[in-house]
Amino acid sequence: MQYVSLYNGVKIPVIGYGTFQLADAALCEQCVGNALEAGYRLFDTAAVYGNEEAVGSAVRSSYVPRKEIFLTTKLWVQDAGYDSTLKAFEASLKRMKLEYLDLYLIHQPFGDIYGAWRAMERLYREGAVRAIGVSNFSPERLVDLCMNHELKPMVNQIEIHPFFQQGEALRVMKDYGIVPQAWGPLSEAQRDIFHHKVLSRIAQKHGRTTAQIILRWHYQRGVVTIPKTIHQNRMTENLDIFDFTLTEKEMESIGGMDIGHSEMIDHRCYYTARQLNSVKIHGDMLP
Ligand code: NAP
Repeated sequence: MQYVSLYNGVKIPVIGYGTFQLADAALCEQCVGNALEAGYRLFDTAAVYGNEEAVGSAVRSSYVPRKEIFLTTKLWVQDAGYDSTLKAFEASLKRMKLEYLDLYLIHQPFGDIYGAWRAMERLYREGAVRAIGVSNFSPERLVDLCMNHELKPMVNQIEIHPFFQQGEALRVMKDYGIVPQAWGPLSEAQRDIFHHKVLSRIAQKHGRTTAQIILRWHYQRGVVTIPKTIHQNRMTENLDIFDFTLTEKEMESIGGMDIGHSEMIDHRCYYTARQLNSVKIHGDMLP
């Protein structure tokens, strides 16, 4: 595994394992176990995924020491706010049966995110979490958060893939020393990406799969990725990207695939704010 340093010196694996849509506990636990076996050391979950217990259980039962594993979970919109964030963090730790987290992210830029951020600064200072960050923050939201708090996010996890390359967001994150982490790094398999002609041509030339070309492209752009797969052979395939290099011309060809917007979710639209604020993961009181 290779690592990059966050601005506080904490090292984060450049490829991790995503667990979105792995709500079945047995399957999730098995997949995380297989991923650990394959060499993954970063696991990405979220309170809203409903699988924190399973991820925690797989990590606890692994032969890999806890300190070698980088665990991320996320605060859901319903729990944004100072007090509710502190409680939600405790609830996540309890579900995972773990002592500390490596990265805690504000999942969505909705709700009382300023209260949430102050609580996260406190959790970080108290040592309950080794790094804090945000997710789905567009450049103006990110800059505003940075300019109104003592601590900047260490990571911003956003949708990035060849069809939505997020050039401006990456430039802003670089300016602020924030590490970009791509969700949907393989575009969730949309637009038949694994058979795209540009990627297939490059893959053929390198004797690699299109998934490896995409993940290598992210790596060369300095983007941390968290691809999800339930298949063991693909887990291994997705990690095996460190022994070849894409040329400048190949990077440019993939650059040409950008359509400049998301076809999955638009965080700048009012209906996204309405929809995500409506998703409740527990009753009025945290369990
Ligand atoms: P993704 O990783 O881009 O794509 C997953 C899809 O690609 C699955 O259909 C998987 O199928 C397929 N796949 C994976 N490796 C492959 C390979 N080598 N060859 C062919 N197909 C392959 O999408 P994602 O799961 O949405 O994103 C990754 C992670 O980001 C999530 O799991 C989650 O942890 C995080 N995420 C965060 C947010 C957020 O709002 N912060 C949103 C979405 C996701 P199989 O499983 O059948 O192999």
